[in-house]
Amino acid sequence: MTSPSAPPGWAVPAVYALAAAIAVAAVGLTATTPNLGAAAFDSPWWLIFPIGMGYFLAERFPFTIEFRRETIAFSLTEVPTVFALAFLGPIPAMTARIAFALAAMLSRRRPPRFKLVFNAAMFAFESALAFAVVRRLSGATEPDAGSFMLAAAASVTIATLAGYLAISIVVAFFAGDFRTRFQAEVLTSMATAGTGALIGAVAVAPALFGLQYAALSILPIVAAWVSLRRHGTLSQAHRDLTDLHSFSTILDQSLHLDDLAPRALDEIARLVHAERVTLRLTNTAGDQLFSHGAPIDVDEVPASRRGAFLPDDEIVAGSSLARCGSFIVPIVADDNFLGVIAVAGRSQGAFSFDESDVSRATDLAEQLGSSIRNGLLHASVEHAATHDALTGEPNRSAFEARLRREIAADHSTHLAVIVLDLNQFKEVNDTLGHHVGDQVLVEFARRVRSVLDDDDMLSRFGGDEFAILIRRANVDEVRQLAERILSMSYTPLRLDGCDAVVTSSIGITFVGSETLPASILRRADIAMYAAKNQRIGIEVYREEIDRRTPARLSLLGDLRSAIERDRLEVHFQPKVELATSRVIGAEALVRWQHPDRGWVAPDDFIGVAEDSGLIRLVTDVVLTKSIEQATLWQRLGYDLDVAVNLSALDLHDEDLARRIDAKLSDHGLDASRLILEITESALMVDTDRTMGTIDQLDRLGVRLSLDDFGTGYSSLSYLRRLPVAELKIDRSFVSDLLLNVNDDVIVRSTIDLGHNLGLRIVAEGIENMQVYDRLAALGCDTGQGYGIARPLAPESFAQWLETTTHDVARQPVNVIRLRRNPA
Ligand code: C2E
Ligand code: CA
Ligand code: CA
Repeated sequence: MTSPSAPPGWAVPAVYALAAAIAVAAVGLTATTPNLGAAAFDSPWWLIFPIGMGYFLAERFPFTIEFRRETIAFSLTEVPTVFALAFLGPIPAMTARIAFALAAMLSRRRPPRFKLVFNAAMFAFESALAFAVVRRLSGATEPDAGSFMLAAAASVTIATLAGYLAISIVVAFFAGDFRTRFQAEVLTSMATAGTGALIGAVAVAPALFGLQYAALSILPIVAAWVSLRRHGTLSQAHRDLTDLHSFSTILDQSLHLDDLAPRALDEIARLVHAERVTLRLTNTAGDQLFSHGAPIDVDEVPASRRGAFLPDDEIVAGSSLARCGSFIVPIVADDNFLGVIAVAGRSQGAFSFDESDVSRATDLAEQLGSSIRNGLLHASVEHAATHDALTGEPNRSAFEARLRREIAADHSTHLAVIVLDLNQFKEVNDTLGHHVGDQVLVEFARRVRSVLDDDDMLSRFGGDEFAILIRRANVDEVRQLAERILSMSYTPLRLDGCDAVVTSSIGITFVGSETLPASILRRADIAMYAAKNQRIGIEVYREEIDRRTPARLSLLGDLRSAIERDRLEVHFQPKVELATSRVIGAEALVRWQHPDRGWVAPDDFIGVAEDSGLIRLVTDVVLTKSIEQATLWQRLGYDLDVAVNLSALDLHDEDLARRIDAKLSDHGLDASRLILEITESALMVDTDRTMGTIDQLDRLGVRLSLDDFGTGYSSLSYLRRLPVAELKIDRSFVSDLLLNVNDDVIVRSTIDLGHNLGLRIVAEGIENMQVYDRLAALGCDTGQGYGIARPLAPESFAQWLETTTHDVARQPVNVIRLRRNPA
């Protein structure tokens, strides 16, 4: 019987009342039973002991079988009952049944008193009912053996079902829903009760001819026992296979532990019929990384018992190894211990967990292992991607994401962005060293944090630049906070034995009409620079101090005419397969030589082009020139891919895929030669339209590459739904790989995780051979960077291909012949 969590208060008294009614019925039935004082067949008094023993064993070792996804628990108590009908009088039979069956229950567990009382009444009633029926059907004394067997089978079946009916009433007291209980307990038990009764009837047959043949009775019982066990395990094995399959589909749906864990645990709970399943993940030092589910004290379990049974006093007192109220299985991936799953509270059937539950949970935990490992990697990559390693505060991309949410959220209070920049931080770094510089930043962050509310967000953008996002009832409160931070910075910092005062400049902007995070931050920056230049400590953004606008406008005009006059160039940076040191392609990077300003860096004009919509034209130019080059390389016999950068806006262009297709066919270049680099943040915008374009591109057969990976705020679970073929680890993690342990962790996890998801990994920003070697050792597939070659103008690139010490991928000879054939 299940004992659900919060039964109504009247449930227990109701059980006592029902027990009393059943007991009265039992007495009534017994009193009216014919020939009350005698056994049906002549027999010695001591038979009460072997029959009682039969009750004990049957109650003590119940079966469970699977039937229509239900676990049915039943025992072979019908067998001793048939013997009792034959060889005991109603009263000794009832006594044996109550005494030995209760002893069996008590030997397994210590049920609450109301359960014992109810069971005693029920045992009495079943026994009395069986006698009342059998003696009316076959006569009270010395009936003929055949009719006794039939009558016994029928009466025992009826009595057992009456017992189940009583049980379902009691369960309904606690959990309601009598109908389902009735179906679960009574209807599904018809077959088992009937079978048990028939086995009893067959088993008793030899003994009816004379007690000296009773030994033969053992045979049918043993045969039934063995075949039931066999059936139970066989159906289990079949079910496990389908369950494992559906379980792995569930695991495939998410990389987020927050998402994955509840789903996986619910499924495990369902499959092993447990009330509680808890997941706890630890690192190698034993610190908890993640937990889900009601706490089960896993730490109490010695390491040697992990994966074995855990006795749970609450559920089973003194549990043996074979049966238990709860147990623990380990989660392991690649031989690393990741944590445990604790399972407690059998939710179905009257019994505790057994070997088969444990082995099933072990199989599920094994499946879960690699998903958990990916989830942990994902979480660490995501944490690194959204947090500053030095101060532990969120980084710029996390700040922008939050800002975006806040802008959308609420307009009743003043939302403000405050940008802080330390004054003369460079001098601190240069004179006292980076170590001291780091201390200053950490201490500064700690101080600022101490004057903020819990809901305020402090973020480090890099270097000595910080930003705060706050919401206040009025403008003055924001200013007061800025003044407090400023005055705080006059209190000296103690650094390695000396005191230093590090002041800061603060720019404030209130979020109003402007709703683009980048523009809002730019305004706060402008205010901060104004404060710094005029040494006034704090400045609030106003239109007048925004002097960069005209410069932007003229740049835009110049860019437009540069495109019209075909002044944009494309340079190519070689990409090398790290394991073989072979050149396999190049990234196309746009270059613009401005008539007055000289070379303008893409970072300075791509943004302008995006804001104005000119980017589509830029992209078109770069695509055309890149496809031309790739076609030329092919004609020269090289086997090289070309990678082109797309911006977010390009993905909104519903015509993009068609134009790319046209350019490719114009040049007769295979789509698989073209790789399109897309940043994570571009993929996050306006998903429906973006997805449409992505789909079209995928169908074209071009490959997609996730650029600047690690700097965006996207999630890998999202990524796995996209047709992405490669991940480009951002150069900010790669360049200092050997100096920064944190970068090494990020790069290593990204490579592992990417490979687990079937992606190729590209590292950009490889500036020297040491980084090259380290990346190769970590299993990174491809790399590019100044250490291999700078981006080169097309002619220089062609020359480089001829002279480089790297092997260059070439096409198979017959392909060259075919292409070179003018036909
Ligand atoms: P990106 O896509 O991450 O491109 C790689 C950038 O890293 C290039 O800067 C490249 O010159 C630089 N780089 C390459 N190797 C190294 C190295 O070893 N160390 C360092 N520190 N840097 C290295 P670039 O050409 O200035 O481009 C900057 C960004 O401008 C690009 O970043 C990309 O986001 C954007 N961009 C460039 N060309 C295009 C284009 O045609 N279309 C679009 N939409 N964006 C472009
Ligand atoms: Ca790129
Ligand atoms: Ca990049």
